[in-house]
Amino acid sequence: MIERAVELLQRGRLVAFPTETVYGLGADATNPSAVARIFAAKGRPSTNPLIVHVHSVASARRYSAGWPDSATRLAERFWPGPLTIVLPKQPTIVDSVTAGLATVGLRVPDHPVALELLRAFDGAVAAPSANQSNHVSPTTAQHVRDELGDSVDLVLDGGACSVGIESTVVDLSGAIPRILRPGGVSASAIAAVVGEVHSCSRIGGGSTVLPTTPAPSPGMQERHYAPRTPAFRFLPEQRASIDVTDAAMLDITLDPAQYSRLLYAHLRMLDQQQLRAIYIELPPDVPEWAAVRDRIIRATQLLE
Ligand code: AMP
Ligand code: MG
Repeated sequence: MIERAVELLQRGRLVAFPTETVYGLGADATNPSAVARIFAAKGRPSTNPLIVHVHSVASARRYSAGWPDSATRLAERFWPGPLTIVLPKQPTIVDSVTAGLATVGLRVPDHPVALELLRAFDGAVAAPSANQSNHVSPTTAQHVRDELGDSVDLVLDGGACSVGIESTVVDLSGAIPRILRPGGVSASAIAAVVGEVHSCSRIGGGSTVLPTTPAPSPGMQERHYAPRTPAFRFLPEQRASIDVTDAAMLDITLDPAQYSRLLYAHLRMLDQQQLRAIYIELPPDVPEWAAVRDRIIRATQLLE
């Protein structure tokens, strides 16, 4: 199966594969027409850059222009794993992968199937989550098939993803490391390795939104990772006023790691039940919940 996947990638086709975060929709990051297929299959705006997956630090260094000390230390500590490192790119990474930016996001995923594929291909695989743009990310091979059908040439099945939400993205191209998206690796874990870290989330078109701050009004925050059923987040004190007729309520009964692992699968399951609404309790504003809060905030509107 890996051999067939490699051959498809070499021919500029799309291969979906499991990672520890979510399933990725992969294509050769050095082939412009292969990369164009990703954007077409997802309906993804060309302004949203893709993460490039590689099998090792040595491979990452081939595709970045410059490799600071901080990258060495972060990679040593967190690769393979759910951390994407943004650095100036080599020209071999096609411009559409990085949405025209001079930087590229690189990651070594921690999944045996992904690593086997990346080692056998021995190149750069651009891979966003294997879902329609703005929809919930897939955490099983069946989710990918349900979502993308024939537009993907092969789906490698590696079981359910263990982390369940997307990687942390840290930008090392400036003087001080900057977290662009919270994820499986916490800001404090990064700070423990590289010292000072700035936390902010640059979403889509470059607007700066603090991930822990609810949008002042609906529509101001980019909708992303969202179910199709109207979804609302609520604070614990709002619980009593919620009408649960024909609706589902997601409480916080799990720890952050368990919650991340199951969140997208739950949202997909609830989305198939033709509910009037999904109500999701917003976890507390503490570091351990930062990544989950970010996804919930982007998937929902604040309940009035
Ligand atoms: P996805 O592939 O859906 O997980 O989304 C990848 C995300 O990673 C993008 O939406 C950006 O937030 C971030 N990203 C990827 N590459 C870059 C880059 N070169 N510069 C800044 N952010 C990036
Ligand atoms: Mg995505």
